[in-house]
Amino acid sequence: MKENVFYFIVGSQFLYGEETLVLIDRDSKQMADGLNADKNIPCTIKWFPCVKTSEEIYSVMNEANNDEACAGVITWMHTFSPSKMWVKGLTALRKPYLHLNTQFNREIPWNEIDMDFMNLNQSAHGDREHGYIAARLRLNRKVIAGYWQDEEFTKEIGIWMRAAVGVKESRQLRVLRISDNMRNVAVTEGDKVEALIKLGWAVDHYGVGDIIKEVEAVSEEEIDAQMARYNNNYIMDTDNIDSVRYQAREEVALKKFLDRGNFKAFHTNFEDLQQLRQLPGLASQDLMLQGYGFGAEGDWKVAAMTRIMKVMAEGIGKGTAFMEDYTYHLEKGNEMILGAHMLEVCPSIADEKPKIQVHPLGIGDREDPARAVFKAKQGKAIVVSLIDMGDRFRMIVNDIECQKQEHDMPRLPVAGVLWKPLPDLKTSATAWIYAGGAHHSVLSYDLTAEHMRDFAEIMGIEFVHINKDTEIGAFRKELEYNDVIWRNK
Ligand code: MN
Repeated sequence: MKENVFYFIVGSQFLYGEETLVLIDRDSKQMADGLNADKNIPCTIKWFPCVKTSEEIYSVMNEANNDEACAGVITWMHTFSPSKMWVKGLTALRKPYLHLNTQFNREIPWNEIDMDFMNLNQSAHGDREHGYIAARLRLNRKVIAGYWQDEEFTKEIGIWMRAAVGVKESRQLRVLRISDNMRNVAVTEGDKVEALIKLGWAVDHYGVGDIIKEVEAVSEEEIDAQMARYNNNYIMDTDNIDSVRYQAREEVALKKFLDRGNFKAFHTNFEDLQQLRQLPGLASQDLMLQGYGFGAEGDWKVAAMTRIMKVMAEGIGKGTAFMEDYTYHLEKGNEMILGAHMLEVCPSIADEKPKIQVHPLGIGDREDPARAVFKAKQGKAIVVSLIDMGDRFRMIVNDIECQKQEHDMPRLPVAGVLWKPLPDLKTSATAWIYAGGAHHSVLSYDLTAEHMRDFAEIMGIEFVHINKDTEIGAFRKELEYNDVIWRNK
Protein backbone atom coordinates (compact mmCIF):
# COMPACT_ATOMS: atom_id res chain seq x y z
CA MET A 1 0.00 0.00 0.00
CA LYS A 2 2.70 2.48 0.99
CA GLU A 3 4.39 2.02 -2.38
CA ASN A 4 1.42 3.71 -4.00
CA VAL A 5 2.17 7.40 -4.38
CA PHE A 6 -0.28 10.29 -4.59
CA TYR A 7 0.86 13.65 -5.96
CA PHE A 8 -0.16 16.54 -3.73
CA ILE A 9 -0.51 19.54 -6.01
CA VAL A 10 -1.22 22.88 -4.39
CA GLY A 11 -2.50 25.72 -6.52
CA SER A 12 -1.69 29.40 -6.31
CA GLN A 13 -0.65 32.28 -8.57
CA PHE A 14 1.93 35.10 -8.68
CA LEU A 15 -0.53 37.79 -7.58
CA TYR A 16 0.40 37.80 -3.88
CA GLY A 17 4.19 38.07 -4.17
CA GLU A 18 7.12 35.77 -3.45
CA GLU A 19 6.68 35.86 0.31
CA THR A 20 3.21 34.29 0.11
CA LEU A 21 4.48 31.52 -2.16
CA VAL A 22 7.12 30.62 0.42
CA LEU A 23 4.45 30.40 3.11
CA ILE A 24 2.25 28.25 0.88
CA ASP A 25 5.08 25.76 0.39
CA ARG A 26 5.84 25.76 4.11
CA ASP A 27 2.20 25.10 5.04
CA SER A 28 1.52 22.51 2.34
CA LYS A 29 4.73 20.64 3.17
CA GLN A 30 3.61 20.46 6.80
CA MET A 31 0.21 19.24 5.65
CA ALA A 32 1.73 16.52 3.44
CA ASP A 33 3.97 15.40 6.32
CA GLY A 34 1.00 15.37 8.69
CA LEU A 35 -1.11 13.31 6.32
CA ASN A 36 1.76 10.88 5.67
CA ALA A 37 2.01 10.28 9.41
CA ASP A 38 -1.75 9.79 9.81
CA LYS A 39 -2.88 6.22 10.49
CA ASN A 40 -5.89 6.66 8.20
CA ILE A 41 -3.69 7.39 5.18
CA PRO A 42 -2.59 4.00 3.79
CA CYS A 43 -0.43 5.30 0.93
CA THR A 44 2.34 7.83 0.37
CA ILE A 45 1.71 11.49 -0.38
CA LYS A 46 4.37 13.19 -2.48
CA TRP A 47 4.63 16.92 -1.96
CA PHE A 48 5.33 19.35 -4.80
CA PRO A 49 6.08 23.09 -4.69
CA CYS A 50 2.94 25.07 -5.46
CA VAL A 51 1.94 25.54 -9.09
CA LYS A 52 1.36 28.99 -10.56
CA THR A 53 1.15 28.58 -14.32
CA SER A 54 -0.55 26.45 -16.94
CA GLU A 55 2.85 25.05 -17.96
CA GLU A 56 3.71 23.98 -14.41
CA ILE A 57 0.32 22.30 -14.01
CA TYR A 58 0.52 20.53 -17.36
CA SER A 59 4.03 19.35 -16.56
CA VAL A 60 3.18 17.86 -13.14
CA MET A 61 0.02 16.19 -14.48
CA ASN A 62 2.07 14.53 -17.20
CA GLU A 63 4.63 13.45 -14.64
CA ALA A 64 1.76 11.83 -12.71
CA ASN A 65 0.51 10.12 -15.87
CA ASN A 66 3.92 8.66 -16.64
CA ASP A 67 4.92 7.68 -13.11
CA GLU A 68 4.15 3.95 -12.62
CA ALA A 69 4.07 4.37 -8.84
CA CYS A 70 1.61 7.26 -8.99
CA ALA A 71 -1.91 6.07 -8.17
CA GLY A 72 -3.59 9.45 -8.22
CA VAL A 73 -3.46 13.22 -7.91
CA ILE A 74 -4.68 15.35 -5.00
CA THR A 75 -5.27 19.05 -5.53
CA TRP A 76 -5.86 21.82 -3.02
CA MET A 77 -5.99 25.58 -3.47
CA HIS A 78 -4.25 27.30 -0.57
CA THR A 79 -4.95 30.61 -2.30
CA PHE A 80 -6.97 31.56 -5.31
CA SER A 81 -5.60 29.82 -8.41
CA PRO A 82 -7.32 30.93 -11.62
CA SER A 83 -8.76 27.84 -13.21
CA LYS A 84 -8.27 28.60 -16.88
CA MET A 85 -4.65 27.69 -16.29
CA TRP A 86 -5.75 24.25 -14.99
CA VAL A 87 -7.63 23.27 -18.14
CA LYS A 88 -4.67 21.95 -20.12
CA GLY A 89 -3.29 19.91 -17.22
CA LEU A 90 -6.61 18.52 -16.00
CA THR A 91 -7.61 17.58 -19.54
CA ALA A 92 -4.37 15.63 -19.92
CA LEU A 93 -4.69 13.91 -16.52
CA ARG A 94 -5.34 10.18 -16.73
CA LYS A 95 -4.91 9.31 -13.04
CA PRO A 96 -7.62 9.33 -10.34
CA TYR A 97 -8.29 12.86 -9.14
CA LEU A 98 -9.15 14.04 -5.63
CA HIS A 99 -9.91 17.64 -4.79
CA LEU A 100 -9.49 18.59 -1.14
CA ASN A 101 -11.26 21.58 0.27
CA THR A 102 -9.55 22.39 3.52
CA GLN A 103 -7.61 25.17 5.20
CA PHE A 104 -4.22 25.16 6.88
CA ASN A 105 -5.45 26.90 10.03
CA ARG A 106 -8.51 25.60 11.76
CA GLU A 107 -9.82 28.84 13.21
CA ILE A 108 -9.92 32.48 12.22
CA PRO A 109 -7.41 34.40 14.40
CA TRP A 110 -9.92 37.07 15.28
CA ASN A 111 -7.50 39.64 16.66
CA GLU A 112 -4.68 39.18 14.12
CA ILE A 113 -6.56 38.58 10.89
CA ASP A 114 -5.62 41.10 8.19
CA MET A 115 -5.49 41.27 4.39
CA ASP A 116 -2.21 39.31 4.21
CA PHE A 117 -3.81 36.50 6.17
CA MET A 118 -6.84 36.61 3.90
CA ASN A 119 -4.65 36.43 0.81
CA LEU A 120 -2.84 33.38 2.10
CA ASN A 121 -5.84 31.42 3.40
CA GLN A 122 -8.25 31.48 0.53
CA SER A 123 -9.38 27.88 0.14
CA ALA A 124 -12.94 29.00 0.75
CA HIS A 125 -13.00 30.74 -2.60
CA GLY A 126 -9.95 29.23 -4.34
CA ASP A 127 -11.39 25.72 -4.09
CA ARG A 128 -14.69 26.94 -5.51
CA GLU A 129 -12.93 28.32 -8.57
CA HIS A 130 -11.11 24.98 -8.86
CA GLY A 131 -14.30 22.98 -8.44
CA TYR A 132 -16.00 24.96 -11.20
CA ILE A 133 -13.50 23.99 -13.86
CA ALA A 134 -13.63 20.30 -12.93
CA ALA A 135 -17.44 20.44 -13.06
CA ARG A 136 -17.32 22.28 -16.38
CA LEU A 137 -14.91 19.68 -17.79
CA ARG A 138 -17.15 16.88 -16.46
CA LEU A 139 -14.17 15.23 -14.81
CA ASN A 140 -14.67 12.12 -12.72
CA ARG A 141 -13.45 13.21 -9.33
CA LYS A 142 -13.84 13.03 -5.59
CA VAL A 143 -14.33 16.12 -3.47
CA ILE A 144 -13.61 15.96 0.25
CA ALA A 145 -14.21 18.98 2.46
CA GLY A 146 -13.22 19.39 6.10
CA TYR A 147 -10.29 20.14 8.36
CA TRP A 148 -7.16 18.25 7.33
CA GLN A 149 -6.32 17.04 10.84
CA ASP A 150 -9.79 15.66 11.54
CA GLU A 151 -10.21 11.91 11.56
CA GLU A 152 -13.38 12.07 9.49
CA PHE A 153 -11.47 13.92 6.77
CA THR A 154 -8.40 11.66 6.67
CA LYS A 155 -10.60 8.56 6.76
CA GLU A 156 -12.37 9.74 3.62
CA ILE A 157 -9.02 10.32 1.92
CA GLY A 158 -7.93 6.84 2.95
CA ILE A 159 -11.05 5.30 1.44
CA TRP A 160 -10.55 7.14 -1.83
CA MET A 161 -6.88 6.16 -1.91
CA ARG A 162 -7.77 2.50 -1.60
CA ALA A 163 -10.24 2.92 -4.46
CA ALA A 164 -7.51 4.55 -6.56
CA VAL A 165 -5.13 1.70 -5.75
CA GLY A 166 -7.86 -0.67 -6.95
CA VAL A 167 -8.03 1.32 -10.17
CA LYS A 168 -4.28 1.02 -10.60
CA GLU A 169 -4.51 -2.73 -10.13
CA SER A 170 -7.50 -2.93 -12.46
CA ARG A 171 -5.66 -1.14 -15.25
CA GLN A 172 -2.83 -3.67 -15.21
CA LEU A 173 -4.88 -6.77 -14.41
CA ARG A 174 -4.53 -9.96 -16.38
CA VAL A 175 -7.26 -12.57 -15.89
CA LEU A 176 -6.72 -16.21 -16.83
CA ARG A 177 -9.74 -18.00 -18.21
CA ILE A 178 -9.50 -21.75 -17.96
CA SER A 179 -12.15 -22.87 -20.41
CA ASP A 180 -15.27 -20.75 -21.10
CA ASN A 181 -18.35 -19.76 -19.12
CA MET A 182 -20.71 -22.41 -17.85
CA ARG A 183 -23.00 -23.37 -20.70
CA ASN A 184 -26.20 -21.33 -21.04
CA VAL A 185 -25.46 -19.07 -18.06
CA ALA A 186 -26.01 -15.36 -18.82
CA VAL A 187 -24.98 -13.27 -15.81
CA THR A 188 -21.38 -14.52 -15.74
CA GLU A 189 -20.93 -13.45 -19.38
CA GLY A 190 -19.79 -10.07 -20.58
CA ASP A 191 -17.99 -8.01 -23.19
CA LYS A 192 -14.27 -8.59 -22.71
CA VAL A 193 -13.28 -5.85 -25.13
CA GLU A 194 -15.40 -3.37 -23.17
CA ALA A 195 -13.83 -4.65 -19.95
CA LEU A 196 -10.40 -3.90 -21.40
CA ILE A 197 -11.42 -0.44 -22.60
CA LYS A 198 -13.34 0.56 -19.49
CA LEU A 199 -11.58 -1.33 -16.69
CA GLY A 200 -8.19 -2.23 -18.17
CA TRP A 201 -8.61 -5.99 -17.84
CA ALA A 202 -6.79 -8.31 -20.23
CA VAL A 203 -8.96 -11.43 -20.10
CA ASP A 204 -7.21 -14.33 -21.84
CA HIS A 205 -8.33 -17.87 -22.39
CA TYR A 206 -6.27 -21.06 -22.19
CA GLY A 207 -7.50 -24.55 -22.84
CA VAL A 208 -7.78 -27.02 -19.96
CA GLY A 209 -5.14 -29.09 -21.77
CA ASP A 210 -2.53 -26.42 -21.09
CA ILE A 211 -3.30 -26.66 -17.37
CA ILE A 212 -3.28 -30.47 -17.42
CA LYS A 213 0.24 -30.48 -18.91
CA GLU A 214 1.34 -28.25 -16.05
CA VAL A 215 -0.41 -30.46 -13.48
CA GLU A 216 1.29 -33.59 -14.80
CA ALA A 217 4.70 -31.92 -14.63
CA VAL A 218 4.48 -31.19 -10.87
CA SER A 219 7.04 -33.18 -8.84
CA GLU A 220 6.44 -35.10 -5.60
CA GLU A 221 8.80 -32.69 -3.84
CA GLU A 222 6.69 -29.73 -4.92
CA ILE A 223 3.59 -31.52 -3.63
CA ASP A 224 5.37 -32.20 -0.32
CA ALA A 225 6.18 -28.51 0.05
CA GLN A 226 2.58 -27.56 -0.70
CA MET A 227 1.32 -30.17 1.80
CA ALA A 228 3.54 -28.59 4.45
CA ARG A 229 1.77 -25.27 3.79
CA TYR A 230 -1.63 -26.99 4.10
CA ASN A 231 -0.60 -28.63 7.37
CA ASN A 232 0.47 -25.27 8.68
CA ASN A 233 -2.58 -23.22 7.68
CA TYR A 234 -5.33 -25.80 8.05
CA ILE A 235 -6.42 -28.72 10.20
CA MET A 236 -6.02 -31.93 8.23
CA ASP A 237 -9.41 -33.50 8.91
CA THR A 238 -9.33 -36.42 6.48
CA ASP A 239 -7.64 -39.76 5.92
CA ASN A 240 -7.87 -39.32 2.19
CA ILE A 241 -4.42 -37.74 1.88
CA ASP A 242 -4.20 -38.81 -1.74
CA SER A 243 -7.07 -36.48 -2.57
CA VAL A 244 -5.44 -33.59 -0.72
CA ARG A 245 -2.16 -34.27 -2.49
CA TYR A 246 -3.95 -34.00 -5.80
CA GLN A 247 -5.24 -30.53 -4.82
CA ALA A 248 -1.67 -29.64 -3.87
CA ARG A 249 -0.56 -30.78 -7.31
CA GLU A 250 -3.24 -28.63 -8.94
CA GLU A 251 -2.33 -25.62 -6.84
CA VAL A 252 1.36 -25.81 -7.65
CA ALA A 253 0.53 -26.10 -11.35
CA LEU A 254 -2.01 -23.27 -11.30
CA LYS A 255 0.35 -20.97 -9.40
CA LYS A 256 3.14 -21.59 -11.89
CA PHE A 257 0.82 -20.95 -14.80
CA LEU A 258 -0.58 -17.77 -13.22
CA ASP A 259 2.82 -16.37 -12.30
CA ARG A 260 4.41 -17.15 -15.65
CA GLY A 261 1.70 -15.20 -17.44
CA ASN A 262 1.51 -12.50 -14.75
CA PHE A 263 -2.14 -13.41 -14.16
CA LYS A 264 -3.55 -12.21 -10.82
CA ALA A 265 -7.00 -13.74 -11.24
CA PHE A 266 -8.45 -16.88 -12.80
CA HIS A 267 -11.57 -18.95 -13.16
CA THR A 268 -12.33 -22.61 -13.60
CA ASN A 269 -15.40 -24.34 -15.05
CA PHE A 270 -16.57 -27.62 -13.55
CA GLU A 271 -18.13 -28.55 -16.90
CA ASP A 272 -14.77 -28.67 -18.59
CA LEU A 273 -12.23 -30.55 -16.50
CA GLN A 274 -11.10 -33.10 -19.11
CA GLN A 275 -8.41 -35.27 -17.49
CA LEU A 276 -8.26 -33.26 -14.27
CA ARG A 277 -9.17 -35.74 -11.53
CA GLN A 278 -10.74 -33.12 -9.24
CA LEU A 279 -12.31 -29.69 -9.58
CA PRO A 280 -9.72 -27.36 -7.99
CA GLY A 281 -11.31 -26.71 -4.58
CA LEU A 282 -8.72 -26.40 -1.85
CA ALA A 283 -6.29 -25.29 -4.57
CA SER A 284 -8.51 -22.35 -5.55
CA GLN A 285 -9.19 -21.48 -1.91
CA ASP A 286 -5.53 -21.45 -0.97
CA LEU A 287 -4.64 -19.35 -4.03
CA MET A 288 -7.31 -16.82 -3.04
CA LEU A 289 -5.80 -16.71 0.44
CA GLN A 290 -2.53 -15.65 -1.23
CA GLY A 291 -4.29 -12.77 -3.00
CA TYR A 292 -5.30 -14.21 -6.37
CA GLY A 293 -8.76 -13.42 -7.63
CA PHE A 294 -11.05 -16.34 -8.36
CA GLY A 295 -14.38 -16.97 -10.00
CA ALA A 296 -16.19 -20.25 -10.57
CA GLU A 297 -18.09 -21.42 -13.66
CA GLY A 298 -16.21 -19.16 -16.03
CA ASP A 299 -17.06 -15.99 -14.13
CA TRP A 300 -14.08 -13.82 -15.10
CA LYS A 301 -15.77 -10.61 -13.89
CA VAL A 302 -16.07 -11.81 -10.31
CA ALA A 303 -12.53 -13.24 -10.49
CA ALA A 304 -11.19 -9.82 -11.47
CA MET A 305 -13.24 -8.01 -8.82
CA THR A 306 -12.06 -10.45 -6.13
CA ARG A 307 -8.46 -9.60 -7.00
CA ILE A 308 -9.05 -5.85 -7.17
CA MET A 309 -10.92 -5.77 -3.88
CA LYS A 310 -8.22 -7.84 -2.18
CA VAL A 311 -5.66 -5.28 -3.33
CA MET A 312 -7.86 -2.39 -2.16
CA ALA A 313 -8.25 -4.07 1.24
CA GLU A 314 -4.57 -4.83 1.77
CA GLY A 315 -3.47 -4.46 5.36
CA ILE A 316 -6.96 -4.29 6.87
CA GLY A 317 -7.09 -8.03 7.26
CA LYS A 318 -10.65 -9.08 8.05
CA GLY A 319 -11.10 -10.81 4.72
CA THR A 320 -12.41 -10.63 1.16
CA ALA A 321 -13.76 -13.64 -0.70
CA PHE A 322 -15.50 -14.92 -3.79
CA MET A 323 -19.09 -15.59 -2.68
CA GLU A 324 -22.40 -16.92 -3.88
CA ASP A 325 -25.95 -16.48 -2.64
CA TYR A 326 -26.78 -20.08 -1.86
CA THR A 327 -29.95 -20.62 0.16
CA TYR A 328 -32.48 -18.48 2.07
CA HIS A 329 -33.56 -18.80 5.68
CA LEU A 330 -37.07 -17.30 5.63
CA GLU A 331 -38.00 -17.54 9.31
CA LYS A 332 -40.26 -14.54 10.06
CA GLY A 333 -38.24 -11.72 11.58
CA ASN A 334 -34.95 -13.60 11.28
CA GLU A 335 -34.49 -13.77 7.53
CA MET A 336 -30.99 -14.57 6.32
CA ILE A 337 -28.95 -15.69 3.34
CA LEU A 338 -26.57 -18.60 3.48
CA GLY A 339 -23.61 -17.72 1.28
CA ALA A 340 -21.25 -20.45 0.21
CA HIS A 341 -20.05 -22.20 -2.89
CA MET A 342 -19.56 -25.77 -3.98
CA LEU A 343 -16.00 -25.48 -2.67
CA GLU A 344 -14.32 -22.22 -3.42
CA VAL A 345 -14.70 -19.66 -0.62
CA CYS A 346 -11.56 -17.80 0.47
CA PRO A 347 -10.26 -18.86 3.90
CA SER A 348 -9.36 -15.22 4.66
CA ILE A 349 -12.90 -14.79 6.03
CA ALA A 350 -12.75 -17.84 8.31
CA ASP A 351 -13.58 -17.37 11.97
CA GLU A 352 -11.73 -20.55 12.91
CA LYS A 353 -8.83 -22.57 11.59
CA PRO A 354 -10.30 -24.19 8.46
CA LYS A 355 -10.48 -27.96 8.23
CA ILE A 356 -9.41 -29.81 5.12
CA GLN A 357 -12.02 -32.43 4.29
CA VAL A 358 -12.79 -34.67 1.34
CA HIS A 359 -16.38 -35.23 0.28
CA PRO A 360 -18.23 -36.11 -2.90
CA LEU A 361 -19.31 -33.27 -5.18
CA GLY A 362 -22.71 -33.72 -6.77
CA ILE A 363 -21.65 -32.09 -10.02
CA GLY A 364 -18.63 -32.23 -12.31
CA ASP A 365 -18.41 -36.02 -12.57
CA ARG A 366 -14.95 -36.34 -11.02
CA GLU A 367 -13.24 -37.68 -7.89
CA ASP A 368 -14.21 -36.34 -4.46
CA PRO A 369 -12.38 -33.03 -4.10
CA ALA A 370 -10.58 -31.80 -0.99
CA ARG A 371 -11.76 -28.43 0.28
CA ALA A 372 -11.29 -26.15 3.28
CA VAL A 373 -14.39 -26.09 5.46
CA PHE A 374 -15.10 -23.31 7.95
CA LYS A 375 -17.62 -20.88 9.39
CA ALA A 376 -17.04 -17.24 8.50
CA LYS A 377 -16.64 -14.23 10.78
CA GLN A 378 -19.40 -12.09 12.19
CA GLY A 379 -19.62 -8.41 11.42
CA LYS A 380 -20.45 -5.73 8.91
CA ALA A 381 -19.56 -6.46 5.30
CA ILE A 382 -20.56 -5.76 1.72
CA VAL A 383 -21.35 -7.94 -1.27
CA VAL A 384 -20.46 -6.61 -4.71
CA SER A 385 -21.64 -7.71 -8.12
CA LEU A 386 -20.52 -6.39 -11.49
CA ILE A 387 -22.81 -7.07 -14.43
CA ASP A 388 -22.77 -6.26 -18.12
CA MET A 389 -25.93 -4.37 -19.13
CA GLY A 390 -25.07 -4.60 -22.81
CA ASP A 391 -24.24 -0.91 -23.12
CA ARG A 392 -22.35 -0.50 -19.84
CA PHE A 393 -21.13 -2.17 -16.68
CA ARG A 394 -23.22 -1.80 -13.54
CA MET A 395 -21.87 -2.33 -10.05
CA ILE A 396 -24.32 -3.35 -7.36
CA VAL A 397 -23.34 -3.17 -3.70
CA ASN A 398 -25.37 -4.35 -0.73
CA ASP A 399 -24.51 -3.67 2.92
CA ILE A 400 -24.83 -6.84 4.97
CA GLU A 401 -24.32 -8.04 8.53
CA CYS A 402 -22.70 -11.44 8.88
CA GLN A 403 -24.20 -13.49 11.68
CA LYS A 404 -22.90 -15.95 14.18
CA GLN A 405 -23.48 -19.46 12.82
CA GLU A 406 -25.24 -21.41 15.53
CA HIS A 407 -25.77 -24.54 13.49
CA ASP A 408 -23.16 -26.98 12.33
CA MET A 409 -24.78 -28.20 9.09
CA PRO A 410 -22.87 -31.51 9.25
CA ARG A 411 -24.19 -32.62 5.88
CA LEU A 412 -23.11 -29.46 4.09
CA PRO A 413 -19.31 -29.66 4.29
CA VAL A 414 -18.40 -26.36 2.65
CA ALA A 415 -17.23 -22.97 3.84
CA GLY A 416 -20.21 -20.76 4.59
CA VAL A 417 -21.32 -17.29 5.65
CA LEU A 418 -24.70 -16.44 7.12
CA TRP A 419 -25.80 -12.85 6.61
CA LYS A 420 -28.65 -10.42 6.99
CA PRO A 421 -28.75 -7.98 4.10
CA LEU A 422 -29.81 -4.38 4.71
CA PRO A 423 -32.37 -3.02 5.00
CA ASP A 424 -33.97 -6.48 5.22
CA LEU A 425 -33.93 -9.62 3.10
CA LYS A 426 -37.18 -8.84 1.32
CA THR A 427 -36.16 -5.34 0.21
CA SER A 428 -32.56 -6.27 -0.49
CA ALA A 429 -33.41 -9.29 -2.61
CA THR A 430 -36.09 -7.36 -4.51
CA ALA A 431 -33.72 -4.48 -5.23
CA TRP A 432 -30.80 -6.78 -6.12
CA ILE A 433 -32.97 -8.68 -8.58
CA TYR A 434 -34.46 -5.54 -10.15
CA ALA A 435 -30.89 -4.30 -10.64
CA GLY A 436 -29.87 -7.59 -12.25
CA GLY A 437 -27.23 -8.48 -9.64
CA ALA A 438 -25.61 -11.89 -10.00
CA HIS A 439 -25.68 -14.88 -7.66
CA HIS A 440 -21.88 -14.61 -7.62
CA SER A 441 -20.38 -11.71 -5.73
CA VAL A 442 -17.33 -10.57 -3.81
CA LEU A 443 -17.88 -10.39 -0.06
CA SER A 444 -15.61 -8.09 1.93
CA TYR A 445 -15.45 -7.27 5.62
CA ASP A 446 -12.66 -4.78 4.89
CA LEU A 447 -14.27 -2.51 2.34
CA THR A 448 -17.41 -0.40 2.45
CA ALA A 449 -19.79 0.82 -0.22
CA GLU A 450 -17.86 4.10 -0.20
CA HIS A 451 -14.71 2.32 -1.41
CA MET A 452 -16.70 0.79 -4.24
CA ARG A 453 -18.54 4.02 -5.07
CA ASP A 454 -15.20 5.82 -5.39
CA PHE A 455 -13.85 3.00 -7.56
CA ALA A 456 -16.91 3.11 -9.85
CA GLU A 457 -16.72 6.91 -10.04
CA ILE A 458 -13.08 6.86 -11.14
CA MET A 459 -13.77 4.07 -13.64
CA GLY A 460 -16.86 5.77 -15.02
CA ILE A 461 -19.20 2.84 -14.45
CA GLU A 462 -22.71 2.79 -13.03
CA PHE A 463 -23.02 2.25 -9.28
CA VAL A 464 -26.08 1.37 -7.22
CA HIS A 465 -26.12 0.82 -3.47
CA ILE A 466 -28.65 -1.19 -1.51
CA ASN A 467 -28.46 -0.08 2.12
CA LYS A 468 -30.40 0.67 5.30
CA ASP A 469 -32.32 3.46 3.56
CA THR A 470 -33.29 1.58 0.40
CA GLU A 471 -36.93 1.80 -0.56
CA ILE A 472 -38.06 -0.19 -3.58
CA GLY A 473 -40.06 2.56 -5.29
CA ALA A 474 -37.17 5.03 -5.20
CA PHE A 475 -34.64 2.35 -6.09
CA ARG A 476 -36.60 1.35 -9.22
CA LYS A 477 -36.82 5.00 -10.23
CA GLU A 478 -33.04 5.28 -9.80
CA LEU A 479 -32.55 2.31 -12.12
CA GLU A 480 -34.88 3.88 -14.69
CA TYR A 481 -33.12 7.25 -14.53
CA ASN A 482 -29.76 5.53 -14.75
CA ASP A 483 -30.85 3.77 -17.90
CA VAL A 484 -31.43 7.12 -19.57
CA ILE A 485 -28.27 8.71 -18.18
CA TRP A 486 -25.95 5.84 -19.08
CA ARG A 487 -27.35 5.34 -22.57
CA ASN A 488 -26.35 8.91 -23.33
CA LYS A 489 -22.86 8.64 -21.83
MN1 MN B 1 -21.39 -20.60 -8.67
